[in-house]
Amino acid sequence: MRLRLSSLKEGSQIIELALGKDDLSIADIPFLQPVAVTLNIYKSQYQITVKGNLQTALELECDRCLEAYRFDVETNFQAIISPEKSISSEIDENVIPITSKTDEVDLTPFARDALILEIPMKKICSESCKGICAGCGTNLNKNACRCSSTHTDDRLTSLKDLLTNTMEE
Ligand SMILES: [Zn+2]
Ligand SMILES: [Zn+2]
Repeated sequence: MRLRLSSLKEGSQIIELALGKDDLSIADIPFLQPVAVTLNIYKSQYQITVKGNLQTALELECDRCLEAYRFDVETNFQAIISPEKSISSEIDENVIPITSKTDEVDLTPFARDALILEIPMKKICSESCKGICAGCGTNLNKNACRCSSTHTDDRLTSLKDLLTNTMEE
């Protein structure tokens, strides 16, 4: 996502674009659709302020049932494009330093970082997800567990064995 500085006019302007899935690779997580980007840009004599809005959908894998599910994301980022040394870029990581020769800046890292922050630590397809049965591996959202009827609890089995042995003696 490259912004051509010479194409910007003074004052505010809005640029809308779509980022292809391949333009933004994040940690093996597939995009279900391109990222819709709205850039709200204000150019003054000293610097350019960019406020970006991102909307897309990702495919995540549920931690409970291991099924893929759609995760809608909307997030924002901000970048300030500023001539070197007027603002200390060491202090503010949102600042993109430029020189008088710079004509293009790449906003892709800002978009990627903003999207990565939105990925939940705990990925659950639905609050009511029942997960998978530890015994038979059945997805309990789709089917009833098959092992509870055929399998008996180990403790019950040994109790039954004990009873049988006692009765035989
Ligand atoms: Zn699930
Ligand atoms: Zn089961």
